[in-house]
Amino acid sequence: MSALTPRPGIMKIAPYVPGKDSVDGKETIAKLSSNEGALGPSPKAMAAYAKIASELHRYPDGGSEKLRVAIGRRFGLDAQRIVCGSGSDELLNLLIRAYCGPGDELLYSQHGFLMYPINALGVGATPVAAPENNYRADVDAMLAKVTNKTRIVCLANPNNPTGTYVTKDEVRRLHAGLPKDVLLVIDAAYAEYVSRNDYESGVELVDQAENVVMTRTFSKIYGLGGLRLGWMYAPAAVVDVMSRFRQPFNVNLAAQAAGIAALEDIAHTDASRTNNDIWLPWLSAELTKLGLAPLPSVGNFLLVGFGAKDRAAAANTWMMNDGLIPRMVAGYGLPEHLRITIGTETEVKAVRDSLARFVAAK
Ligand SMILES: *Cc1c(COP(=O)(O)O)cnc(C)c1O
Repeated sequence: MSALTPRPGIMKIAPYVPGKDSVDGKETIAKLSSNEGALGPSPKAMAAYAKIASELHRYPDGGSEKLRVAIGRRFGLDAQRIVCGSGSDELLNLLIRAYCGPGDELLYSQHGFLMYPINALGVGATPVAAPENNYRADVDAMLAKVTNKTRIVCLANPNNPTGTYVTKDEVRRLHAGLPKDVLLVIDAAYAEYVSRNDYESGVELVDQAENVVMTRTFSKIYGLGGLRLGWMYAPAAVVDVMSRFRQPFNVNLAAQAAGIAALEDIAHTDASRTNNDIWLPWLSAELTKLGLAPLPSVGNFLLVGFGAKDRAAAANTWMMNDGLIPRMVAGYGLPEHLRITIGTETEVKAVRDSLARFVAAK
């Protein structure tokens, strides 16, 4: 036994288990375990990445200035109120470290993204999960869990792994019910995929309130997960806190270059969204016909119910045997489900065929 003792909370963390990326002894037909974006990165982002190779000895721009300006231009936002990070994971971690500590509570929704409770435990705070209603965040249940110890409320919208979303009116009601000294973090990692009139990503609320932050990522629709790049839009006071607190060169040179190019390639982003608009409803309908229970999703993935824990595990093994890699989500309290990323036409059809054979056999 080591005599070293980490700070309280850390040993309570069940380490985050990333989606698998290969099957032993099998050729991988499709990795559908991490929602990485069906079409991969933009060719323009790849070219920008390659072009920066001869500059790798240079430190990156510590303030990610050009990237922030490009994000601001693309989304119509003030670049001064944008902070970039090494993935939105870094920004979530920084926000939680800055505003939450021992004795505090971080509130999230029952099947919310796991990095929220992991980060809360990491700072010695208590993660508090509010029950969901039919796999959707329940604003009233969340508000009922707010105490005078609550410092941060994290809401993934749309949520991973459920794929469900909360309407703009509900998000506003959640915000209106929070004390002014509680930070609402809206994690909109999948916002680019959503086309619903009653959805908003969080920009509007950030503009209206002093205690709301929205985080976004280049890991999903932009297909740059390997580079680690995310951003947040925040009130000036939160931007100030982040600029004191973050590492001075937190976003690497290649990520900044590729990120700018990815933003400029609107045709590629549109193609990725169109791929999802076609194959998400298609796969959902096909799996429903097979008697499986995909939840209504607005992300680039489906959470599929198999009715029983053993059956979900068997389906996972079955798909892996076919070279298809889904994501087990028992760690999210969802042992009867698998999460499956929407891939290309070939990939989603392979999923349908594999699960059709599974249903026929089991
Ligand atoms: C993928 C994901 C992230 C993390 O994205 P990175 O920018 O790659 O760190 C954050 N939140 C949710 C809900 C996600 O699904």
